[in-house]
Amino acid sequence: MRQIQHWIDGQLTGGTGGRVGEVFNPATGEQTGEVALGSHADVDRAVQTASAAFETWRFSSLTQRQNIMFAFRELVATRKMDFARVLTAEHGKTIDDALGEVQRGLEVVEFACNIAHLLKGDFSEQVSTGVDTYTIRQPLGVVGLHRVERALAEVPVDAPWKAPKAAEWDRTTLEAWKVQNLTTSGSRALFDLACEAIYGAEPREITLLYNLAYTAAAGNEKNPGNFALLVATPDGAQESRFVGGSQRIPLLVARRLGAQVVLKAPVRRIVQGHGRVKVHADGIVVDAREVIVAVPPVLAAQIHFAPKLPQAHLKLLKGIRPGKLIKWEAVYERPFWRDAGLSGQAVSEVGPANTTFDNTPPSGSPGILFGFVGGDQARAFAKMSRSARRDAVLGNFATYFGDEARSPKASFEMNWAQEAWTKGCPVGHSGVGVLQRYGPQLRKPFRHVHWAGTEVATYWTGYMDGAVRSGEAAAREVLRALRR
Ligand SMILES: Cc1cc2nc3c(=O)[nH]c(=O)nc-3n(C[C@H](O)[C@H](O)[C@H](O)COP(=O)(O)OP(=O)(O)OC[C@H]3O[C@@H](n4cnc5c(N)ncnc54)[C@H](O)[C@@H]3O)c2cc1C
Repeated sequence: MRQIQHWIDGQLTGGTGGRVGEVFNPATGEQTGEVALGSHADVDRAVQTASAAFETWRFSSLTQRQNIMFAFRELVATRKMDFARVLTAEHGKTIDDALGEVQRGLEVVEFACNIAHLLKGDFSEQVSTGVDTYTIRQPLGVVGLHRVERALAEVPVDAPWKAPKAAEWDRTTLEAWKVQNLTTSGSRALFDLACEAIYGAEPREITLLYNLAYTAAAGNEKNPGNFALLVATPDGAQESRFVGGSQRIPLLVARRLGAQVVLKAPVRRIVQGHGRVKVHADGIVVDAREVIVAVPPVLAAQIHFAPKLPQAHLKLLKGIRPGKLIKWEAVYERPFWRDAGLSGQAVSEVGPANTTFDNTPPSGSPGILFGFVGGDQARAFAKMSRSARRDAVLGNFATYFGDEARSPKASFEMNWAQEAWTKGCPVGHSGVGVLQRYGPQLRKPFRHVHWAGTEVATYWTGYMDGAVRSGEAAAREVLRALRR
């Protein structure tokens, strides 16, 4: 039987997956060969070999690289008929059809032979006063997306601590992952920015396990989450806005609930005993059979529980640290940037406002730009004077959208870390060892106390969607408890 092998590190090698794929001639139904399927180890070896080869490739001159592509083109062109015969034998195509398919493949190789001129960069002078921009194109090497996607599939959204490599991934910070997997300064800077905007934190503060769990959660029961969904505007997490602001939802819900909603009454103490729970808040004590705590973990940790919360649960609550994200908004007569065909969205290595969005209402007036200042930038920003903060952000806006951005008619800033009843934004993240060691406590009721809030969600953790889902799950849990 013909054995079809893998080509790794310049050699033919059998797969070590322990399974084979049978190859049939579709015309006769006869088995003509078998492929020894590869294992994860085979894929890792192929990736490692390609990564090692990339070091030489990257530093070879453009002409050398082009010559290698031409030699490859010659190889494919001279063996066209061999490829066509294999295709015919395995797919049942006529030889002419198969030759046509090889030809189309060859055209892609020819395009790659010619690609050197596409590697030219751009230079734009005076994009803003005294600011020039340039773009360079660099070979990226083996792209890690497949590895990330594979790892995502191994993370159960409701119990990331059960992932086969949970211990290893929760020991690895995103910073360590970045240094190991991203080779160019541009990709590393972009990675830092994504972290600051998504978590309000730096890669050193977050573990790979937490990041994988958060990304896997950016989906639903039918569609697994992925990084693109997390960051994309069209078809992604950033697609929709609420007309009038998302605060309208709790305001309208509160109106319907009426006097049942008690404001300005932070909960200080939760006492359990004799099958009842007493919730002590400022100015009110509520007696209940079951209670849902739906506040950010950092604030739940400040509530005094009697009897005491299990140590592991307290360590979890304290280990989920709130992100640091400041939102800075500038209001203009009109969205002037649109005249120049600009979207109002920017991602820049130069902060403090590294990412921006167009927050103009649907009526088109006034024009509103907002920028996020996150992670270390937010820490440094908070220490600056108000006027220095304003100059810094408006300087960013002017760089991205032109000098008109320097003169808004109004501006607003919100540092969520300074909000006593939020403490941070947009979500709490966990550092080394927390999720793997204490994660199992996340949704575990403490006698008659149940847990909700976006950090507790299984899907869309960190988002409003997740907060609602976790609320529904906690409500179902309470209903079950009440029926017992
Ligand atoms: C700037 C920013 C931008 C964001 N952008 C988006 C976005 O585009 N899309 C998205 O889906 N999500 C976004 N988020 C995240 C979203 O706001 C949160 O995921 C969501 O609000 C979490 O809801 P929650 O009910 O878990 O917690 P919270 O909204 O924090 O609600 C907790 C409530 O508990 C109250 N509380 C706290 N402690 C106590 C106590 N001891 N006693 C009584 N009450 C207490 C607080 O006052 C608060 O009202 C953003 C967040 C920020 C800050």
